[in-house]
Amino acid sequence: MSKVAMSACADYQPQNVQTAVSDVLLQLGGLQNFVKPDQKVFIKVNLVREMSPDKQGTTHPEAVIALVNELSKITQNIIVGDSCGGMYTKGVMNVVYNKCKMTEIANRTCAKLNDDFDFQTVELNGKSLQKCEIINAFTSADVVINFTKLKTHSFAGYTGAVKNLYGLIPGLLKVELHSRFPDLGDFCNLLCDIEQYAKSKIVLHMIDGVIGMEGAGPTNGKPKFIGQILASSNPYELDVVAVSLFGKPFDMPLLQVAKERGLVSDDLDTIDFDFATLADKFVDNFDIPEVTSANTFLNMPKWVKKLAKKYLTKKVKIDKNRCRGCGKCVTHCPAEALQVVDKKAKLKQSKCIRCYCCQELCPFDAVQLKKTFMYRVLHTFSHTKKK
Ligand code: SF4
Ligand code: SF4
Repeated sequence: MSKVAMSACADYQPQNVQTAVSDVLLQLGGLQNFVKPDQKVFIKVNLVREMSPDKQGTTHPEAVIALVNELSKITQNIIVGDSCGGMYTKGVMNVVYNKCKMTEIANRTCAKLNDDFDFQTVELNGKSLQKCEIINAFTSADVVINFTKLKTHSFAGYTGAVKNLYGLIPGLLKVELHSRFPDLGDFCNLLCDIEQYAKSKIVLHMIDGVIGMEGAGPTNGKPKFIGQILASSNPYELDVVAVSLFGKPFDMPLLQVAKERGLVSDDLDTIDFDFATLADKFVDNFDIPEVTSANTFLNMPKWVKKLAKKYLTKKVKIDKNRCRGCGKCVTHCPAEALQVVDKKAKLKQSKCIRCYCCQELCPFDAVQLKKTFMYRVLHTFSHTKKK
């Protein structure tokens, strides 16, 4: 059983974040339990795309700086990085580092930002994938600390410790895998496969939940104060505690799939965390994307899932007033359902697999998710029934 540690943090003032980060590490027995002197440590943050830390879609630089301050007492060989949702090149990642203020980390600590944008093929031997490309920053490190952001996710419901490991895959291969695994259950199995491959090297998982994101996450939602920093060596149990701060953990498809695979238990007594302490920390009215309906169909035959996806998930709509025709969504659409016509994105709805990569990566918030008629009817019905 791995302990889950949590510490309150009021804001991103350096002293407050330092106190909370140091406290969770102390609760887990100290960083020396996880990292040996002079080891090369890769801190895998969440840099989904270029966006200011104030939007709360990426791991906050102050939280990473607080971790590096602790880590540097043991080793100075520290690399910080991620493979963002776009291309994995020096040019693209430098824009992301600048915009996400990761450059602050390099300026104020001994840590370096990853500048090796190569990758290698590894044996995944997973349920969904046998081989996969993984970034060198991960494979060349002695140990890894996964430090993510607490956010909602339009496709998966929630993104935390396990989902953040999707960023170990370089650039546009992520888009290709979305196309190969359009089914939510299959995609969650892929995430579990990546975690199972990576677990021998990841010594610690941390979540920046000081201000998270609700609604249309992981990039277009609204910042929401949660006020916590969390850490554990078990990413599934960490995610269970993190979701318990605003919702029901096993409503989330990823945790449902992980439970079915025996990677986590829904018996909360098996988790080393006092859930009673959440009573006065629970965040009311947290806007969670409706993934419950898709979750209900996780174990159904493919044709049922296909119908459920068509009628019970939100469809993509381009807001022509906001669209600037930059074409980023076109490059990242795994189903080739988008093109730019007359300087505006145009969607072929019949080709769309509803992976929501376009919504995640549109820099102008021009990709909206709209409820279908059946979606509205069924959700009204289920809410009435619940009442
Ligand atoms: S929808 Fe967004 S990403 Fe796509 S072309 Fe328009 S502005 Fe660019
Ligand atoms: S249009 Fe958007 S949601 Fe549809 S397949 Fe392309 S990227 Fe995914």
